[in-house]
Amino acid sequence: MARMNTIQFQPGLSIDELLERYGTEAQCEAAVEQSRWPEGFECPRCEGKAYCVVWHDGVKTFQCNACHQQTTLTSGTIFHATKLSLRTWFKAMYFLTQTKNNVSALELKR
Ligand SMILES: [Zn+2]
Repeated sequence: MARMNTIQFQPGLSIDELLERYGTEAQCEAAVEQSRWPEGFECPRCEGKAYCVVWHDGVKTFQCNACHQQTTLTSGTIFHATKLSLRTWFKAMYFLTQTKNNVSALELKR
């Protein structure tokens, strides 16, 4: 279901650097946007590139100018299925990449 690329952390990124780069929701959103649409927004319905931004309950929503489809950054991705903040996800992904195989589902839930 998720067509987006995974977020890649620089090898050896320290927790301090992680928090500096991805410590706010806005920074995480920008990284997800970059990962999802590296060449800029593309409408999932008609592949249109022109859009405007509307806000629904503080959630940045992209509205396609051509077909008016509304897409959030996280719709159709694993992030959307949870109520976790992106910051929480970034930390979880960070620990996943740092510890490779040693993260259990339990650890992620904390
Ligand atoms: Zn469209």
